[in-house]
Amino acid sequence: MILRVDDYPTGVRPILPDHVEKFGPILDEFEKRGMPYVLGIVPTLCDRKDWVYLKSLKSMLPACHGYDHMYPVYSKLLKDDPYNKKGLAGGASEFHGLSQMVTEKLVSSGLYLMRASLEREVTRFIPPFNSMNPFLEEALIKHGVDTLLCEGAHTSKIPCVSSYPYYIRSSDYQKCPGIANAACVTLHLTWEWDLLREGTSKLSEFLDFIQPARSLATDAVDPK
Ligand SMILES: [Zn+2]
Repeated sequence: MILRVDDYPTGVRPILPDHVEKFGPILDEFEKRGMPYVLGIVPTLCDRKDWVYLKSLKSMLPACHGYDHMYPVYSKLLKDDPYNKKGLAGGASEFHGLSQMVTEKLVSSGLYLMRASLEREVTRFIPPFNSMNPFLEEALIKHGVDTLLCEGAHTSKIPCVSSYPYYIRSSDYQKCPGIANAACVTLHLTWEWDLLREGTSKLSEFLDFIQPARSLATDAVDPK
């Protein structure tokens, strides 16, 4: 089973003050179990402190989660709704409607920033809003991406892992039949932070629940 966690340090919500300290206990649940997880990182939203923190995570498998996730546009709409409770912001990816040249420029600079900052190879990509297009696909192939983690039907030349129907909040894992044998489960840091803040997180319980099945399957599914 691949565990996918999206939106470090955010997706469209305004970046939380002290987000490294706030997200620490969430990612620690994976780290303390030594459970590998794919973290979707939005490269241009990370600062120096983020990169230092991300480099310290031992079980984290980095995935490039777009370029800026349309953060400059959408986060402004959420200024008075920082937890996106009304669900108003977000939809179109930053790669939507771009020319081939601009698409490639964003892809190459996002990947370059991640590889240089983490000082390791990055070959996984999680398209923001699970939204792919042909120019994006070509640019990803050209720049060394060999694994997509994405929902929804699309014709990709890049091997793709879907977590359908396990795109969830940890608090809902008991409502998901078959989840112990899922190929991939997707969580979001922002959603997990909501649960933690509200005292309804079941992340620890969920990871304990899936750990036996997962340790057998992990290497076979994702050897990187
Ligand atoms: Zn996202």
